[in-house]
Amino acid sequence: MRTNLLGLDLKGLEAFFIELDEKTFRARQLLQWIHQYRVTDFAEMTNLSKTLRQKLQESAEVTPPEVLQEYLSKDGTRKWIIKLSCGNSIETVYIPEAGRGTLCVSSQVGCALACTFCSTAQQGFNRNLTASEIIGQVWLANEALGKEPKGNRVVTNVVMMGMGEPLANYKNVIPAMNLMRDDLAYGISWRRVTLSTSGMVPMIDKLREDCHVSLAISLHAANDKLRSEIIPLNDKYPIAELLAACKRYVEGSQRRHITVEYVLLAGINDSDKDVKDLIRILKGLPTKINLIPFNPFPGTDYKCSSRNVQMRFKQQLIDAGLVATIRKTRGDDIVAACGQLAGEVQDKTRRTERLKQQKEVA
Ligand code: SAH
Repeated sequence: MRTNLLGLDLKGLEAFFIELDEKTFRARQLLQWIHQYRVTDFAEMTNLSKTLRQKLQESAEVTPPEVLQEYLSKDGTRKWIIKLSCGNSIETVYIPEAGRGTLCVSSQVGCALACTFCSTAQQGFNRNLTASEIIGQVWLANEALGKEPKGNRVVTNVVMMGMGEPLANYKNVIPAMNLMRDDLAYGISWRRVTLSTSGMVPMIDKLREDCHVSLAISLHAANDKLRSEIIPLNDKYPIAELLAACKRYVEGSQRRHITVEYVLLAGINDSDKDVKDLIRILKGLPTKINLIPFNPFPGTDYKCSSRNVQMRFKQQLIDAGLVATIRKTRGDDIVAACGQLAGEVQDKTRRTERLKQQKEVA
């Protein structure tokens, strides 16, 4: 089988060329051809010798994933449905704002965690995305948005906040994020590449060692009882352990902070007591709190907190000296808002079936 070079970071490409008995500087040339010029045909890579191009044609390929459909929201947000093998598809969202463009990238087909307020979770899980499929989303966005090799960046920020739990697909997420960061590929600063996790504590520690990016955690509750109810992973890694890992993550790096995501669910986690608990547990950790108004999806019973409650929650955090913002809902008319991404998941975990049965019994 041919190796898809799209998903290899500098180290991976260097290893590939060593294997081919070629010089490692070829890796740098390939990165630029693939990610900056978006050339997929080796024949067009004119600074490589003919024999090397031939060799590459025999052993490798550059194959980006295929776009099945593109949607454009009234607010300029774009969503691409990306076709994968075996009837699966995933979603990628581009959110343009004044002076920046954020790409929300998926890491898995579905998700194996069962957070009760998330649409992806209801779909069950099929498989991890390959590194090519992850970085392929950035490649495709640049292609679709017509990025010129030397033109301004169209994707200035990447958030690993699409479908899936990125730290559960560590092996493939790391090379993809290395490529986002590499100046020979997308050259995005670590501050603008954010990995969001539901709280896989040991992998947070590993990430700190392996790849310099910003970290966001999906906290969503300030006590373990509630958090375990809505994020079952909390049973394994409770709040205190998660926050301790966050402390370790920012240690020694002056400009780091943790983004704390907190989805506002009416009557569930939005009371004055919840704010007080949140203020208490976040004491001493450099954070930016991002309150996310809950985005509904078919079949959910949760409701979004009212605008008044959202503002009150935010103000109390600010009054306590914390940094807090309310995430603006984008692309909800094309079902592209946080927690709404679903794609097409051929569920291997039978979760969809079980959820259906539970509903019938209830
Ligand atoms: N699995 C990772 C990456 C997903 S990021 C994580 O849990 O962090 C997507 C963010 O949107 C997470 O903070 C997630 O909890 C939040 N989210 C999920 N469902 C949502 C919904 N219906 N409305 C608003 N935010 C939601």
